[in-house]
Amino acid sequence: MIKLNNKLFKPYLKEEQILAAIEKMAAEIAKDYKDETPLFVGVLNGAFMFVADFLKAYQHPCQVSFVRLSSYQGLTSTGIVETLLDVQEDMEGKSVIILEDVVDTGRTLKQLVHLFSQTNVKEFKIAALFYKSEIYNGEYAIDYVGLEIPDNFIVGYGLDYNEMGRNLREVYQLNQADMINLVLFGKPGAGKGTQAGFLKEKYNLKHISTGDVFRYNIKNGTELGKLAKSYIDKGDLVPDEVTIDMLKDEVEKNPEASGFIFDGFPRTAAQAEALDNFLESKDMMVNATIALEADDEVLIARLLERGKSSGRSDDQDESKIRNRFEEYNEKTAPLKAYYEKQGKFHSVNGIGDIVEITERLGKVIDTLD
Ligand code: AMP
Repeated sequence: MIKLNNKLFKPYLKEEQILAAIEKMAAEIAKDYKDETPLFVGVLNGAFMFVADFLKAYQHPCQVSFVRLSSYQGLTSTGIVETLLDVQEDMEGKSVIILEDVVDTGRTLKQLVHLFSQTNVKEFKIAALFYKSEIYNGEYAIDYVGLEIPDNFIVGYGLDYNEMGRNLREVYQLNQADMINLVLFGKPGAGKGTQAGFLKEKYNLKHISTGDVFRYNIKNGTELGKLAKSYIDKGDLVPDEVTIDMLKDEVEKNPEASGFIFDGFPRTAAQAEALDNFLESKDMMVNATIALEADDEVLIARLLERGKSSGRSDDQDESKIRNRFEEYNEKTAPLKAYYEKQGKFHSVNGIGDIVEITERLGKVIDTLD
């Protein structure tokens, strides 16, 4: 695995596979053009490595030039295709072969075809090193293809992710599929922290408990801790702005994580929306929200028991506990509908043996797609 701008990418195509595909393309093109002097036009920036290796494999008379177009911004094809630079050569009467690193939806290709149809070339052909045939919806049939690939975001061998990764000799694929982000939902005492402890091991996730982060800050006397303490001591929620920023920091601190368990966050509608927006900006999402269900009287008994050893002031006083339940009912419980609407809400019986509850959670997680 490699990391570029906080994203993980896994090996996908080896250098030998790429070079073999290029050799094959060069041989096919040579068969058609070796008796002429074709003009190869590389599409910058991505195709520079392809063009270099292609020319090494194509040892017949030819000319080379470049055109610069761009359609990718970040991870998704924006649909914006700009011509940044026109071909400088005089192309009159020449056979032009466009060397494109990757053809996906075909938008860039359409632009190229348009660009070259307006010239007085003898003919033009398209050679694509990588071709995402599944999503190609252009009319132009590609003349020479190196490798057909599925529609995954790739980097390396000239291709970039936010300008990084062009110098990699091999092609890597974004490792997003393996990322699981879970929200553990449930009233205080439902066992979120305990279960998160097991789940993070089992699924190799980073556990973020906003309650723990607040307590850590209180213990260390930070500004954040001082601010949060007054709310926490009463069993009230800490204001959204503070909590949301803190949560974002925790996620940013763990760029290599293969997923997160959010425990105790979100607790309000504003937090849930902020989480969705924040994750989306990082090309991530909440995969599932799982609620641990247990009734109030069981929870109160559990919390008072925990309060004897945890030293948490908010666990030692029944009225504070009841206040936390009220906060939950009023502000957090409505999130059930928010996640149900997204088809991401699951609930699990939180009463019983700890191991059994972990198994119940595992069953939900293992059936996520
Ligand atoms: P917990 O350990 O999750 O029960 O959280 C303990 C206390 O920390 C809560 O009663 C709140 O005062 C505060 N807290 C934790 N998470 C949040 C959150 N997402 N929003 C607001 N306050 C929170």
